[in-house]
Amino acid sequence: MKVRLSMILLLLVFISNPAFAQESLPLILAHANVINPADDAPWLDQTIVLQAGKIQSISSFPATLPGERMDLRGAWVLPGLIDAHVHLLNIAAARRMLSCGITTGRSMFAWNYADVGLRELRKRGDADIPTILASGYPVLADLVRFKPDITAIFLDHPVLDDLRRPGRIGPDGARRIVRANAERQVEWIKIFANERAGILETEPGTRNLNDEELKAAVEEATRLGLPVAAHAYSDEGVTAAVNAGVRTIEHGSLITEPTLKLMRKRGTYFVPTLYGFSVALTPDSTPEERSLQPRIEMLLKCGRQAVATARRIGVPVVAGTDTGYEEKEPTVIDEIRQLASAGLSNLEAIRAATSLSAECLAISSAKGALKPGWDADLVVYKDNPLKDLSVLREPILVINGGKVFLRKE
Ligand SMILES: [Zn+2]
Repeated sequence: MKVRLSMILLLLVFISNPAFAQESLPLILAHANVINPADDAPWLDQTIVLQAGKIQSISSFPATLPGERMDLRGAWVLPGLIDAHVHLLNIAAARRMLSCGITTGRSMFAWNYADVGLRELRKRGDADIPTILASGYPVLADLVRFKPDITAIFLDHPVLDDLRRPGRIGPDGARRIVRANAERQVEWIKIFANERAGILETEPGTRNLNDEELKAAVEEATRLGLPVAAHAYSDEGVTAAVNAGVRTIEHGSLITEPTLKLMRKRGTYFVPTLYGFSVALTPDSTPEERSLQPRIEMLLKCGRQAVATARRIGVPVVAGTDTGYEEKEPTVIDEIRQLASAGLSNLEAIRAATSLSAECLAISSAKGALKPGWDADLVVYKDNPLKDLSVLREPILVINGGKVFLRKE
């Protein structure tokens, strides 16, 4: 009896391994309520046909072609969620991310190009790895004194050895770090306009890269066709980054309305990573965490105001968590809810992690929507997440590149 029960459980909760990958017969999802976040209203009772990793058709007629059928019985389908700011370091974390229905992530730094490795596994067809946009190592003013330790960059790039001393990298160093990343085929360049907020040694209002280094990094990235994301908090840091031509501002908690207006004018996206600042102290909190708590609470309060102002004046707000999807770490679903509580509507908050995020990451011709020809990355819920965002916590089906990764009955 025990054996049988566990067999049934295994069948009910099926998380696939790459070895289980299904082959080329179409997968037909019947009776699906389809939410395309860029549209205002869902399409009810649709038939979705997936084949060869792509969405082949979506229509209100039942499909007659042969294939594997799944009756969704009126469940709600979203394009796979996108997290625009992750730090994935291993396969287990990538699988955890996918099991939450997050089928795409933009890596904003990973040691030893773990992000490039994960991206390549997914490109080879591994159904248990989300699509990853890699950024490798960040460009920052002092490679040796930075916390956490990023001196692994010298193991990956011994040619940068002369920068292995405390002191500024300078504009030339900034260009060389961009080129080193580009050699490893990253999709994005991450730069630090301000210092970090989450450690006691640095102040988020202080500049990290100076104007010359920042401009040099963005120029070099632009020359190589790579978009740039800037870690920045203050008006000064954000303004320098926006004027240099970065595509996204990460965190940005301390920005005020004039700077947001500049962002709107320049078409810069805002990735406020609010949930990262919402951590409450616990009995296990370290003395450093306790000392940092007032700063973190202030950044959350300011960040929420910045999001409300951004929405009012039309700066696009995109969902990113700034976490690594290790056990118990928050997910982009927490960030979607946080954005909604800061003033976005439920639909806008979902757009921030689907259609709008895809546009921001320049992948909107394949991701962030459910359309024929788009990637077959789907997440399915029993109830309508537009009515209640907490529904996002319980995906019943996750399809990644046309392959079933998670299925619950
Ligand atoms: Zn980060």
